[in-house]
Amino acid sequence: ESLANKIAAGEVVERPASVVKELVENAIDANSTIIEIELEEAGLSKIRVLDNGDGIEQEDCLTAFQRHATSKIKNENDLFRIRTLGFRGEALPSIASVSLFDITTSTGEGPGTHLSFKGGVLETQELSSSRKGTDIVVQHLFFNTPARLKYMKTIHTELGNISDMVNRLALAHPSISFRLSHNGKRMLATNGNSDSLHVLAAIYGMNIAKKMIPIHFTSLDFEVKGYIAMPEVTRASKNYISTIINGRYVKNYTVVRAIREGYHTLLPIGRYPIVYLEVMMDPLLVDVNVHPAKLEVRLSKEDELYRLVAEGIKGVFGQKQL
Ligand code: ADP
Ligand code: MG
Repeated sequence: ESLANKIAAGEVVERPASVVKELVENAIDANSTIIEIELEEAGLSKIRVLDNGDGIEQEDCLTAFQRHATSKIKNENDLFRIRTLGFRGEALPSIASVSLFDITTSTGEGPGTHLSFKGGVLETQELSSSRKGTDIVVQHLFFNTPARLKYMKTIHTELGNISDMVNRLALAHPSISFRLSHNGKRMLATNGNSDSLHVLAAIYGMNIAKKMIPIHFTSLDFEVKGYIAMPEVTRASKNYISTIINGRYVKNYTVVRAIREGYHTLLPIGRYPIVYLEVMMDPLLVDVNVHPAKLEVRLSKEDELYRLVAEGIKGVFGQKQL
């Protein structure tokens, strides 16, 4: 069991950013309205995710650390209609197996639970305060998997990955207040007032946010909303293109290509716009089951989405339609 967890960890937990992603997505799934993320040394020495969500019942808490223990799928049908972010029940046991892991959680009714694990082995189990929500502290990530540790890039790169991840989660959930700090220094704070433009301003700064144009395109199978930067605001990386599909941050190559096509000659070679797109579609047309890290998705009807986005953006900038 513990070996299986360590193997699964290799898939689910590649780097500090994947730990942050899994923990924050759990906090989101638990209906949190405030999520606080504290990092030390780009998460390699410490990742803390504190939420004010539903918490875990005392009798369910240990179970959550068994593989494939998920409270989110009740039957086979649910697998095809995934609305929550997590669904594999692998994250907690995987992360706990490669770190010093502490969880304090309470539903707010009666005492909460504190568990601590070292390399996946339970070391402490006790009652805790009944503050509603969950507080997870992950220390010394990969302390027992030196090969994995060797793959870590510089603090700068790992921190950049985490920050990108949190920015996108914040964009996908404008009604949740996100706070991110690194070595005590604040990196992001959103106020949870449901306004995506406010989140864009928190991430990219007010001057950029002022140059973002709201868009809304619809076709038979897709609805696309969001903000696209005026053509003079470009970046040398497609990292500034964020796509949210049915509430989930994803990477989708078709959308990136469609965006570039939409800006067409307005973009200098090698430059990308800052774009935030929310795509709504029938969940049955999304296959999220491609990779455990769940960043890449396959979609049915990608051609229709391509045309919708490319033509829509062309229309915004008054270019000829396709
Ligand atoms: P999954 O998210 O795929 O269900 P995880 O291993 O990430 O699996 O989490 C296992 C279970 O632990 C979840 O199904 C959920 O019931 C519970 N859980 C994890 N994190 C939280 C949290 N922050 N708040 C409330 N419940 C949580
Ligand atoms: Mg999860």
